[in-house]
Amino acid sequence: MRVVFVGPPGAGKGTQAENIVRDYGLFHLSTGDALRAAVKAQTPIGQEAEKYMSAGALVPDEIVIGVVVERLDEAKDGCLLDGFPRTIAQAEELDRILAEKNAPLDVVLELDVPEEELFKRLASRGRADDNPEVIKQRLVAYHNQTEPLVGYYTGKGVLRKIDGLGTVEEIYGRIKAVLDEFK
Ligand code: ADP
Repeated sequence: MRVVFVGPPGAGKGTQAENIVRDYGLFHLSTGDALRAAVKAQTPIGQEAEKYMSAGALVPDEIVIGVVVERLDEAKDGCLLDGFPRTIAQAEELDRILAEKNAPLDVVLELDVPEEELFKRLASRGRADDNPEVIKQRLVAYHNQTEPLVGYYTGKGVLRKIDGLGTVEEIYGRIKAVLDEFK
């Protein structure tokens, strides 16, 4: 099963992704985690990515796509793509990569959370890019660059919206109800 997880910063993708990969045996590819690891190790990619991440901007497509291509080969038994794609260009590139492998996406989960709630959650999390100014920029980047994916994947008939309000368990229950259709 190949699943893409879309949602604004603070929607709870990371938390739910852990549940999903544990129960469904999927390879978890989080571009946020991969980029943070590269920043920590101060690799050339990490040094370049850091400039964008610390400002709340998206890292350029070429860099992120490179990170994904490297890892996607590990995903033989299915994958959960978490934080990728985040732009239409990334989505088109992903379609090309998956078409070559003859392995199309099964479903795109959109985790839907109202903006007031996102601010509350992000402000209490305390990651380096969780200060109010940077949060604002990340939400702007989401609206401008990532939200168009909802229309893109709706057009392909693979988008499923998940209500992201409630307890972690309640939300995970909604996710499982969808994923179990594709097992
Ligand atoms: P969140 O969803 O909470 O904003 P992530 O951990 O997914 O956090 O991403 C953190 C940062 O990493 C983003 O703000 C962005 O700068 C960068 N990033 C992650 N994935 C991508 C991507 N697919 N394209 C561009 N930048 C990305």
